[in-house]
Amino acid sequence: MSPSATDCCLNPAEKPLLSVAQGKARILQAVHTVTAREQLHLRAALGRILAAPVVSAINVPCFDNSAMDGYAVRSQDCAGTMKVDLSVVGSSFAGAPFAGEVTAGQCVRIMTGAVVPNGTDTVIMQEYANRVDDRVTFETKNIAAGQHVRYTGEDTRSGDTVLEPGKKLGAAEIGLLASVGIAEVSVSRRLRVAFFSTGDELTGVGTPLGAGQIYDSNRYALHGMLAKAAIECYDLGVIPDKRDAVRSALQQAAEVADLVLTSGGVSVGEADYITETLGELGEINFWRIAMKPGKPLAFGQLDSAAFFGLPGNPVSAMVTFYQFVLPAIRKMTGETLHNPLLVQARCAVELKKAPGRMEFQRGILHTEKDGVLSVSTTGMQGSHLLGSMSQANCLIHLPAESAGVQAGEQVSVQPFLDFD
Ligand code: AMP
Ligand code: MG
Repeated sequence: MSPSATDCCLNPAEKPLLSVAQGKARILQAVHTVTAREQLHLRAALGRILAAPVVSAINVPCFDNSAMDGYAVRSQDCAGTMKVDLSVVGSSFAGAPFAGEVTAGQCVRIMTGAVVPNGTDTVIMQEYANRVDDRVTFETKNIAAGQHVRYTGEDTRSGDTVLEPGKKLGAAEIGLLASVGIAEVSVSRRLRVAFFSTGDELTGVGTPLGAGQIYDSNRYALHGMLAKAAIECYDLGVIPDKRDAVRSALQQAAEVADLVLTSGGVSVGEADYITETLGELGEINFWRIAMKPGKPLAFGQLDSAAFFGLPGNPVSAMVTFYQFVLPAIRKMTGETLHNPLLVQARCAVELKKAPGRMEFQRGILHTEKDGVLSVSTTGMQGSHLLGSMSQANCLIHLPAESAGVQAGEQVSVQPFLDFD
């Protein structure tokens, strides 16, 4: 144990307060992207992060095809006349093209998605057709050459990069890859995340509560937040506030994981061993952020694993996870980082706040009858009120210097969908 590490851990009040932005920047600088990759079938790659560019070997569409049910015609037959009378020489269905060549005075019955036959260049909707036996007539006033044709390569050209590395593969990406015929992709391996809760007061669900006990909710909320990321979870349970227990849990976690998360035990309370033990086993970068909820946050390195000691209060744990841990996970899994998705909304109510720390208040974002985006509050903002995270669908970002918000003012809001 180095004396300086011990000093720094035992004197938290001497640590400077960092802004949220500074904290996040330091974290993102410190964590590394996993380099290992795996080759997965398309379906198994859902939710994973692409590790190599995907280039299309085909055009999509790969042939000119019809956007409508109707008749494929030659535009030159329709030019310079009010009405055109054509002979129907065959049909082109999706998957069953017309084999021949269409010549002057001829047309082909065509369905959506069917190949536009050789010789034709324009599709006329069947609603405008007047068909009698194998002849069809059209008024030409509404016909524009080339209409209702979906051209080869309009969506993707052969040789185009359809997806760049760093892209999280969602439903649209999996569909896009399938549309260019890709069966397997290279993705970064799942990040290994170990986590445990600390606290003598914590009881697992399914067990009756003893005097002074509470249920451990953080591990469940953490598991839920982690489940959406490209990770593999190691749930190490509840660890009592005992130095040796905390120490061995941290060691065990660091052995299996790229990222270790704990909740509780990072404030200045007497039984808070996490930061102290971390100072002995690894390195702490900081632990006080000018934010509310969630001021105490330990961040550091345990052997080769990155470490976050999240606050014990359930709302603080979730908010700090979203603001700091999630961006770190994104970088570690190789996902391209984006700025927080912030939208401006009219604040429906007054929000109380003292200048000093940045606040993340739980908000309910909705669209008013007049179409204006409006946000209201879930009410009391105590960091122990987990129900507020369930009522909310966004975090209202109030900058450190803000002294509160009047009803009707604009505020910045981060919808929860930014955390998916
Ligand atoms: P701590 O950060 O350990 O001082 O805990 C702060 C508050 O959060 C205390 O009221 C704890 O009882 C509560 N707390 C700590 N861990 C958990 C947990 N895993 N689930 C629910 N509440 C917790
Ligand atoms: Mg505790």
